[in-house]
Amino acid sequence: SQNIKNEDPDIWKIIEQENVRQEHHIELIASENYASIAVMQAQGSQLTNKYAEGYPNYRYYGGCKYVDDIEKIAIERVKQLFSVDFANVQPHSGTQANFAVYTALLKPGDCVLGMSLSHGGHLTHGHSANLSGKLYKFISYGINHKGEIDYNQIERLAKKYKPKMIVGGFSAYSGLCDWKIMRYIADNVKAYLLVDMAHVAGLVSANLYPSPIPYAHIVTSTTHKTLAGPRGGIILSNEKDTLLYKKINSSVFPGNQGGPLMHIIAAKAIAFKEAMCPQFKNYQYQIVNNAKAMVKVFLDKGYNIISGNTFNHLFLINLTNKNITGKKADLLLNDANITVNKNSIPNDLQNPFVTSGIRIGTPAVTRRGFKEKEVIIVANWIVDILNDPYNVQNILSIKNKVLELCLKYPVYKKI
Ligand code: PLP
Repeated sequence: SQNIKNEDPDIWKIIEQENVRQEHHIELIASENYASIAVMQAQGSQLTNKYAEGYPNYRYYGGCKYVDDIEKIAIERVKQLFSVDFANVQPHSGTQANFAVYTALLKPGDCVLGMSLSHGGHLTHGHSANLSGKLYKFISYGINHKGEIDYNQIERLAKKYKPKMIVGGFSAYSGLCDWKIMRYIADNVKAYLLVDMAHVAGLVSANLYPSPIPYAHIVTSTTHKTLAGPRGGIILSNEKDTLLYKKINSSVFPGNQGGPLMHIIAAKAIAFKEAMCPQFKNYQYQIVNNAKAMVKVFLDKGYNIISGNTFNHLFLINLTNKNITGKKADLLLNDANITVNKNSIPNDLQNPFVTSGIRIGTPAVTRRGFKEKEVIIVANWIVDILNDPYNVQNILSIKNKVLELCLKYPVYKKI
């Protein structure tokens, strides 16, 4: 950063401000994490200069000897991490990974089932504002009155619409998923099952969440959430169908992308190695325990949790009985240096910019060393703020305590 400081002080100053923000805020956004210094070094390396369209040993550019080695290592490591036969590590993001699968296996106008955004799905699972919802005829499923994924509804919709694909996976669901039932439903209508495990990839790698890999034809993921790597996507499969692998590869390149980001692929390789260390499993275990410990505080204090509990790294609080919107809660907590995101809840009466819920996730705070003791304190601070939203003095005094706790658990020790 010394070079940025001299060459472009304007940008350097803002990067430093963001570094301080990350150190001084309690980060509870379920999709965020802190990448290791090694991962960030790879992202800032000379590999960013290299064009490498194609795949290892089949490139459209010269000079690819070393980037070939890197991509081969990344592929081998992710195959080992998730016990799969096929991996593509080139998608620039989770969205790119999903679109590569869609365009490999679907034609525009084809019918697909996906989880609705307001029930916990992702934009790329068929939301009308997303290209997925414009290009394909997505039909949404959701959760039932008990807060569980409604497999009966999926089956009914599958029988009625005969989709070409069923998309599993979520951005805001704290329950377990029965991938076996989803594959059974998909097989009965001869549909592909794609599972987007972006949120739980780290937990799956540590065997702490049901793995979709034995059941889905194809699994996509991001690498930057529970997996704690660089921002990016991957596509995996164990289908023993080399034609399928070929289709996916040519859909990523040249179908959806040009040159792969070799600096990111190197960073992914490093993250996969980190994820195979025994400490990583302990880290994932702590993520889940921390989420459960926080849920207990909220339930004890009369807050409603969608689905009633958590079995992963996140949960949603339904704020309707507290007379406060998701937007307001998000802003109040931000005043105390606690970062969450507002989130729509099933059948939300508020619009998506206001919402009636907040989503809380523990991957980032766990990464900086918080255990049950610390997250219970944080959950109580959140309750104190939301129960007394106009008490500015209270929010300020909690902010000071947040700063103290953050200083005790630095993310990157050099700051
Ligand atoms: N899939 C799921 C389930 C997600 O939660 C997300 C991101 O939040 C994505 C895909 C998209 O990933 P990206 O932001 O890298 O495009």
